[in-house]
Parts: sequence; C-alpha cells; structure tokens
Amino acid sequence: MRILHWFRKDLRLDDNTALGEACRDADGEVVPFYLSEPAILRRPDMAAARVRFVLECLAALRADIEALGSSLGLGHGEAAEGVVRAARAAQADAVYWNDEYEPQLRTRDDAVERALQAAGIRVRRFHDRLLAPPGLVATAAGTPFVVYSPFRRACEQHPIAEPHAAATRFARHGLPQRALATLTELGFAQTATAPWPAGEAAAHARLERFLDGVDAGANEGIVGYETHRDFPAVRAVSQLSADLRFGTIGIRRVAHAALAVARATPRCAKPVEKFVSELRWRDFYAQVLFHHPHCERGCFRREYDALPWSGTPEQLEAWKLGRTGYPIVDAGMRELLATGFMHNRVRMLVASFLTKDLLLDWRHGERHFMQHLIDGDLANNNGGWQWAAGTGTDAAPYFRIFNPTSQGQRLDAAGAYVRRWVPELARVEAGSLHRPWEAGPLALARAGVTLGKTYPHPIVDHSVQRELALAMYAVVKGGA
Ligand code: FAD
Repeated sequence: MRILHWFRKDLRLDDNTALGEACRDADGEVVPFYLSEPAILRRPDMAAARVRFVLECLAALRADIEALGSSLGLGHGEAAEGVVRAARAAQADAVYWNDEYEPQLRTRDDAVERALQAAGIRVRRFHDRLLAPPGLVATAAGTPFVVYSPFRRACEQHPIAEPHAAATRFARHGLPQRALATLTELGFAQTATAPWPAGEAAAHARLERFLDGVDAGANEGIVGYETHRDFPAVRAVSQLSADLRFGTIGIRRVAHAALAVARATPRCAKPVEKFVSELRWRDFYAQVLFHHPHCERGCFRREYDALPWSGTPEQLEAWKLGRTGYPIVDAGMRELLATGFMHNRVRMLVASFLTKDLLLDWRHGERHFMQHLIDGDLANNNGGWQWAAGTGTDAAPYFRIFNPTSQGQRLDAAGAYVRRWVPELARVEAGSLHRPWEAGPLALARAGVTLGKTYPHPIVDHSVQRELALAMYAVVKGGA
C-alpha cells in the first residue's frame, strides 16, 4: 500500500500519530506532502511573522526528509482539489492526516475526505495535537466541560499516551518539489519581528533549554515555573507555543520529557505538575471551540454580546502601538510588535486593559493579536480574550479588573521588562517606573522623560475606568 501523508500543523517527523501509522501500514511507502492554501493565507488576521515561521519550518522539514532519501511534495491551491491531485499523482491508495478542531478547518477536512472517497482513495484521520481530544472526557451528565478545573481533573484520569517513534523512511515519488515561496511572493511585507528559530530541531532545543533550567539560574526554566512564570523578565516559561501551534514538536514528547524531569529531580515535581496543567489549557480551549463554535465570532455567554463598548478608535490605536501611558501595558504591546510574542501574564494585563480600562470590544484585541502573534491560534487566543473580558467559560469574574500599576510593581518590581521594551523610561527609578506621572518633575527631568512628549500621559484614569467598566457589565448582568 502507498500512503500520502498530508502535513498540516504537524511539521515534524517525531511523535507524529498519522505519520507513524502511515509508516506502519505502508512499510516505508509513504509520500510526504504539504499544500499551501490561498484561502488560509488570505485570511485578514494572518500574521507575517507566522507565515515566515511556517516557511522556515517547511524548509527544515524538507531538509530532514531529504536526509532520508526522499523529498517533500509541495502543492498550492484549494484543499480538496490539491490533495486529490497530489494523491493521484503519487499513486497513493490512501491519504492520512492529523485532525484539526477549528470549525472552518473541520469543514475543509470533511470536504477533502469526501473528494478523496469519490476518487476511490481511502482516508484515515487521527487525533494527534492534544493530550485529550474533544470528546475524551465529559461531565457526569455527559455534556462537555465548560469549567477548566474539573476538565483537567477528568483528563488526569487518562494516562498520557507514549510518544510515537520518528519516521525513518519515505517513498521516492514524482510530486512537484518546487522552491518554497518567499514571504513577498505570498503577498506579505517583510516582517520587522526578530526571527524565531524554527523547525523540529529548534523546537527540541527550546524544550531542552527549558527543562535543563534545572541547572540554570535559580528561578529560570522548569525550576521556576511554578513560582516565577508570572514574572515577564524571568525566563521561567517554555516559549513552546509556536512549536505546539505548528506541530514542530509532539505534545506527548513534551509532556513525557517534563514528567521524566520530575521523576529524576524531586524538587521539580510541583513545577512539572503546573506545566502539564498549563498544557491542558490548550486542550480545554480547543474543546470549548469544538463544542461551541459560536465562540469564534461571539461571546461564549451570549448575553455579553449586548455589552455597550464605548472606547474610541484613537484609544485602540494607542493600545496597539504601546502608547497608553501605562508602562507594563506599553511594554507588552511593544514586545508583541517587535517579536511576535508576548509573555502570558502580560497578555492577561493588556487584554484586561483593552476591555476594562479602554472599554473596547475584546474582538479588536483578538484580531490584533492574531495579526502579530507567532503562536496565534484561534482557540487559545479566543479563549484567552474571552477569559480576560469576562465573557467566556470559567471566566475571571467580570468585576476582577487588573490594576496595571500595581501589577507592574508586583511582577516587574525592578523594572527590567519595562526598561527593555519602553527604553524612554529606562532611567526612571524603580519606585516610580510603573507610575511615572507621580515621579515629580525633577526625577523625570533627571531620567530624561517629559510626559506628554517623550512618553505619553496615561490616556485614561484607571480608577475612573474601573467604575465605568463595572457599570457597563452591570447593564448586562441586570444590576443597573
Ligand atoms: P508556557 O507557560 O511554557 O506553557 C506551555 C504551553 O502550554 C504553551 O506553549 C501553550 O501551548 C500552553 N498554554 C499555556 N498557557 C495557556 C493558556 N492560558 N491557554 C492556552 N494554552 C496555554 N496561546 C497560544 O498558543 N496562542 C494564542 O494565540 C494565545 N493567545 C492568548 C491571548 C490572551 C489574551 C491570553 C491571556 C493568552 C493567550 N495564549 C495564547 C495563552 C498563553 O499566553 C500562551 O500560550 C503562552 O504565553 C505561551 O508561552 P509559553 O509557551 O512560554 O507558555
């Protein structure tokens, strides 16, 4: 039997469920194939940083496949037509792939499956990208979980599957092996963001560096994950999100590598437990979107669709550019523009600020994040935004509103994060770095800061906006 493996968001050879099954069923007669789809590239929320990352992952994947004596077949076009054409050209009896859970991608995959079946070609689809695929766990009533903690506890009853062995053999084939397109050819401006090492080897190196943190600085890597993961200037997080997004590393490989560290180093048991529980947020948000596809456009709790957002386009622009006058918010927004990444805790702060200080619809923020994040992922991003806006599943209650000043003082006390991304404040002393408007003219002059000129005055007053936000939410809650 000859099988076409359709690579999608699984750009790796190791721990790849569909590929592993194909290798077993076809005994090496596996034809590797990737299709770039104009419909996806044209999405208005596509980020150049993400496209560049994928192109670099594909280059790495192609090199890995060539090292095994084959080549990565490349196609470009609409999915059903492109995959059927490739399967026919490769003389494949079957096409295997790993499933996606986003509503639009499921519709696409179903159409591809129908087209292949009509052409007499078998299809096998596999769960791969999550620890717990949608449907694995359910409440006692048989319904999908909408609260994270019981979802996680139910998932923990299922052992994490062992990683699959890496593919070591592919077939020779005559599929096109054209040159990979460049960003410009795909219609994207060259991105200004710093490159993010891409590909399977880079993903494994990132995982190792994170887990080797056992021997690094006291609070860095996995050792500091439980205690320091909220401090944006400390490297206590894995930065694996883009790898998990595009599948340059298998989720089972990541989880088992972490669990092995916990077994070998008892002081890492708690941090590893926390890390694996964070991995399960991906599963949680994927299954929320899977079971509640209306979240893609609307609030999970539909009554919140009536929120009377009142922020202005000028405020939105200031937020996007990192010019709100609140240093921790501005640092996060500038980190995003410069790198395509933003620390998780800062994502929560800037999202709270957009919705509850600027009173702007969370969908503006969701879109901006997708247009810039290298790990931009519909389910995680939508889930994160709805959590922050208080419109989602087990949302932080709407009345819990982050104070950007005290959060900055607590999580970036020495100011290393703000100084890095808001250099015009670099010389402001730590005591007033997160509220420069209180520093006093002399201190500001000494630091070379002129508020309103070199750095903006706060565009809103947090204490005033907080009350307005509570009133806005009360309208929906029926309390006003
Ligand atoms: P680590 O802390 O090392 O966690 C390991 C992995 O677990 C992550 O790579 C990620 O895959 C998963 N994970 C951790 N926390 C979460 C979470 N809260 N939700 C879902 N998965 C999680 N994550 C994305 O992958 N894509 C997004 O588009 C995205 N948008 C977000 C938007 C907002 C408003 C918020 C608050 C969070 C968003 N997140 C998103 C979740 C989280 O911020 C990132 O996954 C995390 O910052 C990535 O850094 P890391 O790999 O170092 O995380």
